[in-house]
Amino acid sequence: MGNVLSHRPRKRFGQHFLTDAGVLQRMTDCIRPRVQDRMLEIGPGDGALTEYLYGQVGRYVAVEIDRDLVPFLRARFAGLEVVNADVLRVDLDDLLGDGGWRVVGNLPYNISTPLLVRLLGCLDRIEDMHFMLQREVTARLAAAPNSKAWGRITVLMQYHCEVEQLFEVAPESFEPPPRVYSAVVRLRPRKQRLPLERAEALDLVLRHAFSQRRKRLSNALQSLTIDWQRAGVDPGARADQIDVAGYVALANALQEDR
Ligand code: SAM
Repeated sequence: MGNVLSHRPRKRFGQHFLTDAGVLQRMTDCIRPRVQDRMLEIGPGDGALTEYLYGQVGRYVAVEIDRDLVPFLRARFAGLEVVNADVLRVDLDDLLGDGGWRVVGNLPYNISTPLLVRLLGCLDRIEDMHFMLQREVTARLAAAPNSKAWGRITVLMQYHCEVEQLFEVAPESFEPPPRVYSAVVRLRPRKQRLPLERAEALDLVLRHAFSQRRKRLSNALQSLTIDWQRAGVDPGARADQIDVAGYVALANALQEDR
């Protein structure tokens, strides 16, 4: 069901189409679509996941970069709103309007991190997100401090969202099969976040800390002016030993006149 017979999967768009009905049903069970939902799907491809969700919700918008797939999607799902665009360049403010969106997608692996960072800027208009990603990426999002997987995207994501790893998916569930395992993750914007004075400060501290993750923070952050006493963070610690609260404290202790 649903394969575009004449369409050859395009590597440059990260096209691996889900063909495993069990996985699609499991994703749907995790998402639990409701009639009142506004759903945004990123990269619908030939509509494998769309087929499970489209008829269940009030509004459905799909953003697909591959213009050859767009007529097929429109023919397959009458009334589907398809935006033929690169989701990394589309005007998200315009697309998400006044909010209340649930975002889903079996994401192309090459754009997953920049896309996640972009979506972090619009969380006030997003209820939740369910994504299929490369397993290593979901592991990074859900990592704990003192592990190799703990990194900049981990801290940013966990500061803003609750992260839940849901289940893993083997390469054979896709056509063509990717070289790596995948996993489905649920991201839910937090209702309460730690007080952060300036979002750019957190970004700056994270960039410096993780660009030299083996160095002591006092070294990695030496070009920044930080009130260490106010931060209450050990300058001798390394980047992967600091939890989210520690990074927020460092960001709040960053002096503006650097
Ligand atoms: N959802 C389909 C499925 O599960 O079978 C397709 C998933 S495939 C891994 C990724 C999809 O994202 C492809 O359809 C690809 O063309 C689309 N895509 C890739 N880069 C994109 C981008 N920058 N913006 C929007 N869609 C993109």
